[in-house]
Amino acid sequence: MRTPIVAGNWKMNKDLSETKSLLSELVSADVPSNVEIVVAPSFVVLESAVNATSNSTIAVAAQNVNAAANGAFTGETSLNMLGSIGVNLVILGHSERRDIYGETDEIINKKVIQSIEVGFRVIFCFGEQLSERKEGSHFNVVSEQLSLGLKGVTDQQMDQIVLAYEPVWAIGTGETATPEQAQEMHSHIRSFLSDAYSTEVASKVRILYGGSVKPGNAKDLFANPDIDGGLIGGASLVASDFLAIVAAAE
Ligand code: PEP
Repeated sequence: MRTPIVAGNWKMNKDLSETKSLLSELVSADVPSNVEIVVAPSFVVLESAVNATSNSTIAVAAQNVNAAANGAFTGETSLNMLGSIGVNLVILGHSERRDIYGETDEIINKKVIQSIEVGFRVIFCFGEQLSERKEGSHFNVVSEQLSLGLKGVTDQQMDQIVLAYEPVWAIGTGETATPEQAQEMHSHIRSFLSDAYSTEVASKVRILYGGSVKPGNAKDLFANPDIDGGLIGGASLVASDFLAIVAAAE
């Protein structure tokens, strides 16, 4: 039995006072004990978020990291810096990092490997573009992103990985994959894991769906056997919406 996860990717939203206010609503809410809850605020408020959630079960993730240990990388943040403020979970491979900041599968793979080697857990994101779905190459695209992004990750290290399938055409667009489309891809991802690793790894790894998940569609998506929760963008910025999505994952 896989414990579901609902993770909120706040992207470049919420300043310090907004972060405190959203987190105070989340930590005081009555949440199901069988759902893991994650929030990923911006770097500048991460330490405050760690402090605000310290007496709760909510985990705090970073939205990115640099694979290098330290050095002349202006504007970047290392794993050690994150660890020093109590963050040991990171979102990698988000389509906005790939599309806007040019992160290739190889760059993302370096970040994945470094992160797991220092003991972090990783929410690894991937998903096809609309044109790739239209031309029918979406299964191959996803398999390729998985094999390149997870290159060198061992069976045992897969315990530190959570996968997040996010079709790019559904992110921030209001257009969601249907529960059937999402389940079909998640089942494909489990077969990929079975071939690349083992049936045990395939049955243990949590696979989240992301792309315009809202309180109104979360239950139908999460009801599918291979969907283990969601990575939530826009709807994670409003406490009542995020909590409704958490409740749908129970
Ligand atoms: C995301 O950015 O990971 C995401 C799924 O965004 P949204 O829920 O807004 O589509």
